[in-house]
Amino acid sequence: MKLHLTSIFAGSLALVGLAAPAGAETLYFSGACAKGERITIAAVGDLLFHKKLQAQAYRKGGSFKRFFTPVLKVLKGADLAFGNLEGPAAAGVGPGGRAVKDPGKRLGAVYGAPLKSLAFNYHPSVVSDLKQSGFDVLSTANNHSLDRGALGADRTVDTMRKARMPFTGSRKRKQMPQPWHVLTKAKGFTVAWLACTYSTNGIPDRKHQILHCYKQTDKILGEIKQLHQNPDVDAVFLTPHWGVENRHRPGERQKKLARAAIEAGATAVFGAHPHVLQPWEKVVAKDKREGLVVYSAGNFISNQRQTAERTGIMALVELVRPEGGKAQLAAAGYIPTWVQIDAKGHRVSFNNSSKGRTGEALARTLGLLPAGNRMAGKWPTAFPTKCSSSAYKRLAGPKPDRHWVRNIDSPKSGRSRRAKKANNWNRVLGKSNKRKRSRKRRTGASR
Ligand SMILES: [Zn+2]
Repeated sequence: MKLHLTSIFAGSLALVGLAAPAGAETLYFSGACAKGERITIAAVGDLLFHKKLQAQAYRKGGSFKRFFTPVLKVLKGADLAFGNLEGPAAAGVGPGGRAVKDPGKRLGAVYGAPLKSLAFNYHPSVVSDLKQSGFDVLSTANNHSLDRGALGADRTVDTMRKARMPFTGSRKRKQMPQPWHVLTKAKGFTVAWLACTYSTNGIPDRKHQILHCYKQTDKILGEIKQLHQNPDVDAVFLTPHWGVENRHRPGERQKKLARAAIEAGATAVFGAHPHVLQPWEKVVAKDKREGLVVYSAGNFISNQRQTAERTGIMALVELVRPEGGKAQLAAAGYIPTWVQIDAKGHRVSFNNSSKGRTGEALARTLGLLPAGNRMAGKWPTAFPTKCSSSAYKRLAGPKPDRHWVRNIDSPKSGRSRRAKKANNWNRVLGKSNKRKRSRKRRTGASR
């Protein structure tokens, strides 16, 4: 009976054009049991250091490292760790992108995030702190890239170079043309990273310093193709900043670009920006290559307070390079994370909770991503595979909250959970809810 219901449910979802319940199926990859060299890559979502977090980083004895202490083992344990630095790290650049005297590690007009304009700038120490916390490569392409103008983008590049931090997605005005990707090396593997953004918050990119996901799709796909064909490159990762804030469902534009990127030769796509989790999917290219698309890993660290905004994942993939062959995906998993906020400040922590607010957060994560791919927040950690040698053990946890799989509304929309559930069932049953939607649009309830 259970099986029967599931198939009806999946069928109805397909009929109304919804993604299959992502929470249900564990993802496996055909390279799992192949013999060969292996590396592990970790990708997290947005690194958003709002004012409250910067205050903790700048006070005496403080640093940006403090936010990552509980998850250091995995960040450092992975052969390569990626994150999106959401905002400039531009020395001495004030509001409006003007050069000013550098005040040092002090919260104010130069380093901060004024609420009115939400124009971020972080003290350059953020980059070396991220490096010391285990990050090996950062994205500088996001909607905040030009918060301090063209000079801010230039000086962010200077900061990255000074800290010897590989980065992708932005470039200096005076250093063009240059490729948008960056190459990183680990255990004899060469991995290429390419970041882009859907927008720069309306600030015009007059000097073409930022790579734009949708305006420059051809360029992106061309660069991926070239990298894939290069025998010295083992894997290519696209890390787009995209999607709609507070939506758990990827849009058509995201899906189209993700699938085209895998087709062009990307091994995986690690997305972020919506502040909340979105599901993942396995994409098989025409030449049978398998790719992984993580639509949004959510916020990794921020001062946003909604449960969904404090919930994130570390996405993990294992690559295998069989002798004489090209590297391929061996396995994928994720470790649920939670932004802990208390008297001691903010920290990213692993979430194994079945109770309370964190339990609810984990239940939602398990509603979006397969429970069978959840990995332990320790190092070394085992990947889920069907190989006999696998040390993977399925973790216990709360019952998956599948409500989130079908949630297309902002958690801030103010609509009751019951109304949302009813609406979701209407969708599953194929009933129209056009009237409800237009009413919502008129009242402007959804952002
Ligand atoms: Zn963003």
